[in-house]
Amino acid sequence: MCIFCDIIEKKVPSEIMYENEQVVAFHDIRPKAPVHVLIVPKKHIRSVNDITESDTAAIGALFFAAQTVAEMMGVKDGYKIAFNVERKGGQLIDHVHMHLLAWPGSQEGKKEVAFI
Ligand code: AMP
Ligand code: ZN
Repeated sequence: MCIFCDIIEKKVPSEIMYENEQVVAFHDIRPKAPVHVLIVPKKHIRSVNDITESDTAAIGALFFAAQTVAEMMGVKDGYKIAFNVERKGGQLIDHVHMHLLAWPGSQEGKKEVAFI
């Protein structure tokens, strides 16, 4: 259905670092931060604008998985999560994905990220 569906189905190689019944997490191929992981629902949902009431558990699972991913990456003390929504919001891949970004070496962290 899309490149992320192919990653989820392991038809396209990627660096999957976590998976459960509802989500898959893999390293972004072009990282914008020292830690940049994408967390995606296994269900193909095009955009945040397409989420329906029946998807709320799958979307909640993204946030729940973020804790685990952050823990696994050693950045639970500070990280940023973001969703780009539609082209004008910077969304290039039409499958809902959470960006998890962290700057573990930085003392103050990053308050501003202009564009992911
Ligand atoms: P967005 O602009 O929010 O749609 O983000 C898409 C993200 O997917 C970008 O940060 C890309 O670097 C990343 N990306 C695109 N193709 C792949 C891939 N095959 N494996 C991992 N990350 C990818
Ligand atoms: Zn998809």
